[in-house]
Amino acid sequence: MQTAQSNNRPTPRIAIIGAGVCGLGIGWRLAAAGCPVDIFDQGEPGQAASWAAAGMLAARAEVEPGEETLLELNLKAQEIWPAFAAELEAASGMPIDYRDDGTMIVALTRDDAEAIRFTFDLQKRLDLDVHWLSGIEARQREQFLSPNVTAGIHSPSDHQVDNRKLVTALQRAFEAAGGTVHAHTAIRAIDIAQEKVRGVVAATDGDADIHHAADVVVLAAGAWSRDIDGLPTDLRPPVRPVKGQMLSLRMDAEAPLLRHVVWAPGVYLVPRNDGTLIIGATVEEKGFDSDLTAGGILDLLRDTWEALPGITELSVDEMWVGHRPTSRDDAPILGPTTVDGLVMATGHHRNGILLTPITANAVSQYILEGIVDPAIEPFTLDRFAKSRRKRARPAPAGKLGVVS
Ligand SMILES: Cc1cc2nc3c(=O)[nH]c(=O)nc-3n(C[C@H](O)[C@H](O)[C@H](O)COP(=O)(O)OP(=O)(O)OC[C@H]3O[C@@H](n4cnc5c(N)ncnc54)[C@H](O)[C@@H]3O)c2cc1C
Repeated sequence: MQTAQSNNRPTPRIAIIGAGVCGLGIGWRLAAAGCPVDIFDQGEPGQAASWAAAGMLAARAEVEPGEETLLELNLKAQEIWPAFAAELEAASGMPIDYRDDGTMIVALTRDDAEAIRFTFDLQKRLDLDVHWLSGIEARQREQFLSPNVTAGIHSPSDHQVDNRKLVTALQRAFEAAGGTVHAHTAIRAIDIAQEKVRGVVAATDGDADIHHAADVVVLAAGAWSRDIDGLPTDLRPPVRPVKGQMLSLRMDAEAPLLRHVVWAPGVYLVPRNDGTLIIGATVEEKGFDSDLTAGGILDLLRDTWEALPGITELSVDEMWVGHRPTSRDDAPILGPTTVDGLVMATGHHRNGILLTPITANAVSQYILEGIVDPAIEPFTLDRFAKSRRKRARPAPAGKLGVVS
């Protein structure tokens, strides 16, 4: 990638709102290119959705009807993942446990089998690399699955990463490249004047807010992205929180119950290298409610037990709640806006970990070079503007001399 200083243009000062995988990934790329980058987080960096996630990188297994454009982006992200993981591990000096054991979807009843046959037909129509399994073939791959497993789909190219290690590594790589993270610093407003960003306003405990000047502001505040002052109404990204409850059990790391990521009816199971078995997740339209409920955990455990009866002896490690940053059409919102210097990286819903590499690469490329990668062109905020006042998008920041 071109560095910010390589063409003698002024190096832009970057302010990023939100230190999740989106903010940290973009920040890492920009800091490594020589830009001064400050990332602000209202809490501890990386502890929101990016910490709560399961880390599945499953473009094929998770495909849904009507999401063909998103599938293209997801597949592209998946293609980049191995090289991105290697680069990040080298830059951060720590492993992120990218695992390529593949993913299985299993059915326990005839109805489930019909439902996954529908998914399989869709996957095949989309030319995805997936294979039908009989119940016996499914149990040959994963011997501890219930004898009730009647059929399955094997997706050999859908993988996983330890998302908690990912956020830690991104923060380390970002700071090693010269970036600064401001923890516990909520951004109250984005300062915009004459259709151009001038910086961000940090809330403080005292009376006076602190203004932090910037040429480029990246809005990467996850499920909170809509709530920041200063944005014109038509530039408020239509993003809402979708609650998910999860838990984890402890397996013997030397003799785990699973090696693949497994989707069973109502639940998915993600085995980590250290023996953790992640179990997720509820999908609840309850705003920022963060209660763990008996019903939510009961559903997850019951559905897991039906597919993998051996869990009964495992100890419970942790239970938690996260909030997916979900846009109106479930797809991310990326790249330029009609305000000069205001850039979006939000709305990643259930795919933010999968999309981390392409978000980091494409958004930083736009900021550095003024080029909108064709892969993200369908995902700019513009797509929601049809029913709203249309405003002309300014020339990309790079062409205004703020960036290379
Ligand atoms: C239960 C669950 C399971 C998931 N599983 C997967 C999965 O298996 N695979 C996958 O690809 N994705 C998964 N996801 C989705 C993924 O976690 C998200 O899409 C992704 O983490 C979004 O990253 P982000 O950086 O946009 O948001 P976040 O990680 O939420 O980061 C946003 C940050 O912005 C900060 N912030 C907010 N407002 C302000 C403000 N005003 N000032 C300063 N800071 C602010 C927050 O404190 C937060 O740290 C899952 C999500 C959940 C909840």
